[in-house]
Amino acid sequence: MKIAIASGKGGTGKTFVATNLFYSLSTFGNHPALVDCDAEAPNALAFFKTELLNVSEVMQDVPVINKDACVLCGKCAEWCNYNAIFILPPAKFIRVIEDLCHGCGACTIACEYNAITEKKVIVGKVSKSLFNDKYLMLEAKTEIGVMSPVPVIKEALKTVRDNSEIVQTLIIDAPPGTSCPFIQTVNEADFVVLVTEPTPFGLSDLKQSVETLNSMKKPYGVVINRAGLGNNDIFNYVEKEKILMEIPFSKDIASIYSKGKILSEEDSVYAEKFIELYNKIIKVYENV
Ligand code: SF4
Ligand code: SF4
Repeated sequence: MKIAIASGKGGTGKTFVATNLFYSLSTFGNHPALVDCDAEAPNALAFFKTELLNVSEVMQDVPVINKDACVLCGKCAEWCNYNAIFILPPAKFIRVIEDLCHGCGACTIACEYNAITEKKVIVGKVSKSLFNDKYLMLEAKTEIGVMSPVPVIKEALKTVRDNSEIVQTLIIDAPPGTSCPFIQTVNEADFVVLVTEPTPFGLSDLKQSVETLNSMKKPYGVVINRAGLGNNDIFNYVEKEKILMEIPFSKDIASIYSKGKILSEEDSVYAEKFIELYNKIIKVYENV
């Protein structure tokens, strides 16, 4: 079972839910793994004492233009959907803006003059660690300045697939928002848990996430974090059976989280609540 924990915006508590769900499952006889795909700001592993096994670099092909062969026809720039090739024919100027390149290879195919070759650049890293000697934890992390975390996310998900023989439940901490990194991540999941908060911003972002998941035909449920804050509009929007859990707005919970501790480890009541969350996820998933 692969469960992505996502949210329309950062700061709603998705890492809090992902880490607590992972920890609770590890103490209740399940065999979970966790992969942090929030590759621009991964922090899930910071809550655990882990043993680092290895770190692998993620490479991407970036075009290199041979200026002697280039006739400045502009076709490569036309084919590039990411404006990563800047060309100024009257000035005989052409340059690849590497930070914008997504490594799709379209420009190489477009060039009829064989003026483009490719070189490899590092776009990020995937680290592999163990928690409690047996639970796999992976972290995807992009290099600073890299525009798209998608290649690093893909590599992290591939690594977990290659190491998944003994994993019963994979928890995926998804990137915030609803753009390519989110879609790449939740596409891997069987079920998506959307974490939100009962505020107008929370509701607005939740609606976008729900629309995106509906268009992908992905089953989902909702965890309402900081319940008691804001208003009740979110409860009118989300169907009752899709509300999986409410986490109260509590200074104590915020304090535990801000100290880098896992609530389920500190408070056994919450360890059980996160197991209840898991059981509800399974129930909703089986009824889809
Ligand atoms: S590889 Fe793709 S993204 Fe990069 S410059 Fe070429 S067309 Fe643009
Ligand atoms: S398509 Fe090839 S020849 Fe044309 S501008 Fe690009 S690199 Fe130069």
